[in-house]
Amino acid sequence: MLKKFQPDYVDRHFNDVNIEKLKTLNKKLVICDIDNTLVAHDEADVSDKAEAFLRALNAARLEVILVSNNTEDRVQRFNEPLNFKAYPMALKPLAKTYNQIFKDYPHIKKSEMIALGDQVMTDVWGAKRQNIDVILTEPIVQKDLIFTKINRHIENVVMKLLKKRGLWPNEKM
Ligand SMILES: [Mg+2]
Repeated sequence: MLKKFQPDYVDRHFNDVNIEKLKTLNKKLVICDIDNTLVAHDEADVSDKAEAFLRALNAARLEVILVSNNTEDRVQRFNEPLNFKAYPMALKPLAKTYNQIFKDYPHIKKSEMIALGDQVMTDVWGAKRQNIDVILTEPIVQKDLIFTKINRHIENVVMKLLKKRGLWPNEKM
């Protein structure tokens, strides 16, 4: 059970993600969280840094989709200059949106997908339930919404347990 909360790779920031390594691992699709992964949760627009990172993924022929539990308005505004396929109100960690992604990308295997996110209880658990690899990054800002605060509390307990059992990964992407 604990394994479902275990990220495969841990990085401090999306800028630390090694795109060459993603290519070596034969990844083709990046399931990307927005809030506190790419920008602070209260930052409406994509930042230059985040945009440059996402474009670099595309340039390396990695497809990017935005998968967020936040509202359609938030995701749409963030996505305006990017125009990626987006899945707002994704209800991570539930299976619903992942199943939709599998339908939308039938030519891409689960093993060729990788998730990128900042939360154990949504991004990691959601992806690991589907046997998709995950990179966990540290949240861009520590300030969180109330619901996320509760998740963070559980997350801290889970992370401590994983670390205690030697299940916390050392590997960076
Ligand atoms: Mg997030």
